Amino acid sequence: MTDINYIKNLRVPSKENPLRILMSACLTGLACGYDGTSYGDYPASARILKYDTVRISRFCPEEFSFGTPREMCDIHGGTGIDVLEGRAKVLTESGKDWTKGMINASEKMLAFAIQENVELAIMMDVSAACGSQVIYSGNRFGENKVHQIGAGVCGAQLIRNGIKVISQRDYASLEILMTKIDHGYIADAKLKDHHESDWHKEYFNTDKKL
Ligand code: SF4
Repeated sequence: MTDINYIKNLRVPSKENPLRILMSACLTGLACGYDGTSYGDYPASARILKYDTVRISRFCPEEFSFGTPREMCDIHGGTGIDVLEGRAKVLTESGKDWTKGMINASEKMLAFAIQENVELAIMMDVSAACGSQVIYSGNRFGENKVHQIGAGVCGAQLIRNGIKVISQRDYASLEILMTKIDHGYIADAKLKDHHESDWHKEYFNTDKKL
């Protein structure tokens, strides 16, 4: 779940002192997806790229460890934090064990985030690496694919080291972020973060749990 108060309390940046943001490289348009694409357009996050009040540091952890193109992978037996703590594995669609490579990638991404002194990360959700809110549970192929609440391995690595992460689907947070980087921007108060969406509430039955 996102921490929207953190976004509200972010400083107002300037051209001279831009907001330092880490982004999944595919969200910046880099063709680093498993299939050699950038997975399409995500305008709610991509629009920030044109502002000089933001400094973007982009990184693709899977490309770092496995190259592009590559197999698709998912987490089996838990979430990203379980992988980091040895209770779950990252397996490719053909069954290769990429757990170690993914942990290495998460450590490299964390080191890059620290080096760049980032104040926020915007990451591609559902990815076994970059997910921060929702990921697959086990293999995503076939009709029986199952989602779970949780972060991917790199998302979990950043979060447990104190870096705030939002996803490209956290539209309320992204709206507030826009008001910080564009002083004339008026946020659309009707937009919601992913965990507040109808899909999320229905799929995870969270209305009854909250
Ligand atoms: S989601 Fe993350 S690991 Fe996957 S292509 Fe994008 S940057 Fe790379």
